[in-house]
Amino acid sequence: MLVARRHMLSTGETYRDRVGDYFRKRDPNAKPDAPSPNSKPSGTKSHSNQSLPNPLDISHQYVGRMPEARSFDVVIAGGGHNALVAATLLARAGRSVIVLERRDELGGAAVSVAPFPGFDVRLSRYSYLVSLFPAALLRELGVTIEIRRRRVAAYPPTTGASFDAIARRVFHTLTEPLRPREDFRRLVADDAVWSALFETPISAMIERSFADDLTRGTVMTDALIGTFAPADDPLLRQNRCFFYHVVGGPWNVPVGGMGALTAALAGAARAAGAEFVTSTEVVAIATDERTAEVTCADGRVYAARHVLAGVAPHVLGGLLGEPAPGDPPEGAQLKINMLVRRLPRVPGARSEDAFTGTFHVNEGYEQLANAYREASAGRIPSMPPCEVYCHSLTDPSILSAELRATGAQTLTLFGLHMPARLFTDADAKERAVAATLRSLNSVLAEPIEDCLLGLEALTPPEIEAELGMPGGHIFHRDLAWPFAESDDEVGAWGVETEHANVWLCGAGARRGGGVSGIPGHNAARAVLANSAQNRAHHTT
Ligand SMILES: Cc1cc2nc3c(=O)[nH]c(=O)nc-3n(C[C@H](O)[C@H](O)[C@H](O)COP(=O)(O)OP(=O)(O)OC[C@H]3O[C@@H](n4cnc5c(N)ncnc54)[C@H](O)[C@@H]3O)c2cc1C
Repeated sequence: MLVARRHMLSTGETYRDRVGDYFRKRDPNAKPDAPSPNSKPSGTKSHSNQSLPNPLDISHQYVGRMPEARSFDVVIAGGGHNALVAATLLARAGRSVIVLERRDELGGAAVSVAPFPGFDVRLSRYSYLVSLFPAALLRELGVTIEIRRRRVAAYPPTTGASFDAIARRVFHTLTEPLRPREDFRRLVADDAVWSALFETPISAMIERSFADDLTRGTVMTDALIGTFAPADDPLLRQNRCFFYHVVGGPWNVPVGGMGALTAALAGAARAAGAEFVTSTEVVAIATDERTAEVTCADGRVYAARHVLAGVAPHVLGGLLGEPAPGDPPEGAQLKINMLVRRLPRVPGARSEDAFTGTFHVNEGYEQLANAYREASAGRIPSMPPCEVYCHSLTDPSILSAELRATGAQTLTLFGLHMPARLFTDADAKERAVAATLRSLNSVLAEPIEDCLLGLEALTPPEIEAELGMPGGHIFHRDLAWPFAESDDEVGAWGVETEHANVWLCGAGARRGGGVSGIPGHNAARAVLANSAQNRAHHTT
């Protein structure tokens, strides 16, 4: 079936007319997956011997006269870190690849910025800690960024179940084709954990394992980062969130901030021969299942054999002109980035110890439940639960030498249970920030305001406006189980869509979410496997 946004085409012109041109320019004997005219022979690195420009430099954008529609093996809509992973792997496999990014820089939620005029500090504006990025994938990409352990991180109390051991058994499956649920269960090899984590709301395990409210709450936070759900949610969204928060091991600090990781990934993609165009918004994707056409807001059109969506599934649905899949996603976090002249004093502890790791603020189990109830009823939580950590204690390189000499530090705050629905009033953000600072101050020995040099806050609607994450959902949509949930998914990569040549490569894929590169890797593998299958089909 032809799926096309016909209104994007000029009058009288059909999608097939336009894509037909693309075919005619190609070798008429070419097999469906034969490389396009832009393809490089497998293994070549067409740009690798040229001097490498700054990967985040946008000077390579097309300017002046509109070029002819160009064709690629793979067009990637959205230039988040996952797109860069997919671009590198596909370009290295000889595919011609172009990444189209709406913003003026690559990286999506994995970027660093200098948000406070007059202060030379580069903060990870959105995401800030790395746990899920497989070391083997970083090695495969040739990315050598340092990801540093925090001296004090977070030591979740033991539940009697060794999540570490289970993580070691299942983590490698995240970059493999999907297994059936029962195979995954055999790999977990622990019936009690299987039941507690994969079948029953996590509240049962937490309440059975711990008597102390604060301990329960601390464990529960791993189930709530980026997820608006109660502990006993029968949909088990909180369980899935918990799984992805413990399966990667400790949450570590990318040295140089998230922007350093993105710069390294972009460098790898560029060295492999991928092209980037920034400041260009994709507005439509059309496919006849063999070829596709990607249209940008400035009128440029790219023909492609495959389209990868680094954007959320909801955004992809809109681009394809199709109904959005499922309920609209809703993010539920308030992110606050701060620069402080010195760390605030904390009762009974050295500030350096308190803020090196994750400093939990009003995250008791009952406090979390209460905040969820208030937010569900449409109110900003009276004592917002949140967690804070100091990036610059582990990685001072994000501060200039002058700032370091003054004792300045950064503080990153992630506030829970702040769903997008709360931010409809003009003053809602102000109230949410005030409530969050009040909550933070309730556990400090002095008001945070006495230490502040700069503060920026980001609500879910602002995240949506800036990054295109629907509802400001930091994982593009609620996280999915890491195994096949239907027979036809077994052996697939979790990146497939309704269309044979359109794939997810971003956080909204199964096993996506977080700074992991995993869906980017899996999308590249899926496209290459698909090409191999098609070749085999055409030679038999
Ligand atoms: C505040 C916040 C804190 C977080 N903290 C952490 C953390 O500490 N650790 C962690 O692992 N994860 C964290 N996350 C989640 C993580 O950052 C994301 O899940 C991940 O970065 C998603 O990467 P991606 O490449 O899939 O997509 P994105 O980063 O969302 O990139 C998608 C890109 O597509 C672009 N785009 C959208 N629409 C279009 C269009 N029509 N045309 C062209 N381009 C388009 C966007 O501009 C964006 O650059 C956080 C996220 C947020 C927002």
